[in-house]
Amino acid sequence: LIAVRARFSHWIPRGLGVKAIVLYPYMLFSAAREEVELSLWRHEMIHVRQVRHCGWLRFYGRYLAEYFTQRLGGKSAQQASRDISFEQDAYGMANRIELTEAEKKETGLA
Ligand SMILES: [Zn+2]
Repeated sequence: LIAVRARFSHWIPRGLGVKAIVLYPYMLFSAAREEVELSLWRHEMIHVRQVRHCGWLRFYGRYLAEYFTQRLGGKSAQQASRDISFEQDAYGMANRIELTEAEKKETGLA
């Protein structure tokens, strides 16, 4: 596995208007490190697990395909993002999982 590299106060999520984005192996946050909430950290780590499970191409290919399908169907950018299956899973699980010690260590959370 490639270790996750967390970056903070980053221009990419800020430019996209989102709190965070996983561009594996990078986990990019809009906010400074001390302002990132644990639930957001967990949510992003679930995306890391999804990328590792599906593989980079399949994860991002399906993610973007679902997003644009929803947008073409008339949904707002925000709603389309939320309705992506990977996001549904991540929102559903973010408050129910514990990060493993290895995950905490590689993200610098431990
Ligand atoms: Zn997400």
